[in-house]
Amino acid sequence: MTDAPGAERPVRGSRWSDDSSREALQSIIEAIREVAGFDVVGVSAVRDDGYLQLLCVVGPEDARETLADTLAPLAPLLEALEDAEDWGRLKYVRHDRHALDIERWGWTSDGPRDVPDGVWHPEDVLVAPLHGDDGRLIAVLGLDVPRDGLVPDESKRPLLDVYARQASGAVVATLERERMAEQVRLAAAAADIVRRAAASMSAERTLAECATAIVDGFRAQALWTQLVGEQPRAVHDDAPVAPPPETVAVFERYARALWETQDVAVFAPDRPAPPSRDVADHAAMTAFLGQTHAESLLLAPLGSGPDCLGWIGMSRGHGGAEWSEAEAAMALDIGRDLGRALASARMFEREHQLVQELQEVADYKSHLVATVSHELRTPLTSIVGYLELLAGDPGLSERSRTAIAAIERGSTRLSRVVEELLVLHHTADATGLDHAQPVDLSPLVADIIELNSGPAESRGITVAASLQPSVAPVTGVAHELEHVVANLVGNAVKYTRDRGRVDVRLENADGEVVLTCSDDGIGISDADQQHVFEEFYRSTDPAASQQSGTGLGLAIVRRVVERHGGRIELESALGAGSTFRVRLPASA
Ligand code: ADP
Repeated sequence: MTDAPGAERPVRGSRWSDDSSREALQSIIEAIREVAGFDVVGVSAVRDDGYLQLLCVVGPEDARETLADTLAPLAPLLEALEDAEDWGRLKYVRHDRHALDIERWGWTSDGPRDVPDGVWHPEDVLVAPLHGDDGRLIAVLGLDVPRDGLVPDESKRPLLDVYARQASGAVVATLERERMAEQVRLAAAAADIVRRAAASMSAERTLAECATAIVDGFRAQALWTQLVGEQPRAVHDDAPVAPPPETVAVFERYARALWETQDVAVFAPDRPAPPSRDVADHAAMTAFLGQTHAESLLLAPLGSGPDCLGWIGMSRGHGGAEWSEAEAAMALDIGRDLGRALASARMFEREHQLVQELQEVADYKSHLVATVSHELRTPLTSIVGYLELLAGDPGLSERSRTAIAAIERGSTRLSRVVEELLVLHHTADATGLDHAQPVDLSPLVADIIELNSGPAESRGITVAASLQPSVAPVTGVAHELEHVVANLVGNAVKYTRDRGRVDVRLENADGEVVLTCSDDGIGISDADQQHVFEEFYRSTDPAASQQSGTGLGLAIVRRVVERHGGRIELESALGAGSTFRVRLPASA
């Protein structure tokens, strides 16, 4: 055959993928060999790339060995069949009526070539084209070397036609079954790969997780992957060679082009480059395959949206199955699915990194606050100590006293900020309560009310307490919970006009301990309610900003409540008072 691809020798395709189907075919053609009276019978499948691949052959050993898995282009055979004698299913082409290069096809019997009419010539062609249910040519049955040495005459042809018809049905059914089995296998592999890809949160892991599933699903020998901008990796253990940089560049170029056209490419050193391909690139790819002892490589792009994100390349060794149309389609789908999974994994990685960076900033801020507060504490203590000494001096002028009183007020305020900053730092962790134990809130609330009653009374404010007897204890840290009560009651008194009223309740409710602190004070606007629990937030309401404060109290309250597994609620209206309600889980 003149245009057999590439080489002088017959080109070999690959073993069929399903051995049980192959065995079935083998018995069919053996039966034909028996009944039809021919020594050599073979079946070749029509492949998507326009080659015929011999699937099965029975006959003398040298014929079987020479013919096994040979590849031959289909077109010249079809051309020859145009001039064939039509024997029904079978088509006969006399040796001198075709231009097929039988030597290159694989095997010819060494029978005499100088034969009279009616005697079989080694280059005679007798074949039955086999069509699938959809009318597509899917295989060719070939007969060679009649046992009686004669070209079957008209009397034998009807019986031969019956055999060919029976064989045709059986071969077509077997090939269709193989196709179905392959589709089921691929669908299962695809589902497995997609499941693994979807479960993985990092791009690296996504590829690693899917590698074995891809290798198994595609029955590949080795697998290479590359994400754009990263090094290619042989993901599967059996992958023997890493592609050199110049080959990687070729892979990338192909992957981009393939993603644009939504296609995959198959490279096989034994087959010529398709005309659309760059010859040098194709040569680089096939050279790489030579190094890896692979017979063919399927390259599929990975992508998402308009972006090609990388590629996967799978190889099969000599004797591995051919890449089918269904496998090519599946590889493209896997490229899309993996591409999507990679894109979302990358997004997740970016977000994760961002969160980490934010966490680092938050940690730094918290560390800074703690350090500065600690550093301020010692000099403040000595300032306060010396102020007390100074204030006790009887010889001070009135002006000095006023100045010292102002310094005292300032340093008290500064001390409060420092203390609150330290508490804020200690309560930064939303979990991790150290030394938690049952805390009875009743005496604690009573003490705080007592502490506030002096300042409240001086302004004519009533502080009423309603503490349910036998309120369940809560599990927590007493001094932190004290901060909560002190802040809420202190604020209620602070932000209530003279002669106002503050009510503090403590009760059990549905497995919770509820502390309610209500006042009929200045209230909080809806806009401010969104922010009052933020650090350093102080209301812009003039009635509120008249009062001194740090804006840290409620931030600490919320942190402590949340650290104790509770929550805080606020109801308020400007000018109509506020109610803060803290719910903490009661100790079991
Ligand atoms: P501050 O040190 O300013 O009191 P807080 O964090 O305790 O800081 O409170 C934040 C802001 O919430 C206050 O500046 C005030 O505007 C408002 N606020 C808190 N409690 C009350 C209340 N009981 N009535 C009215 N406004 C309140």
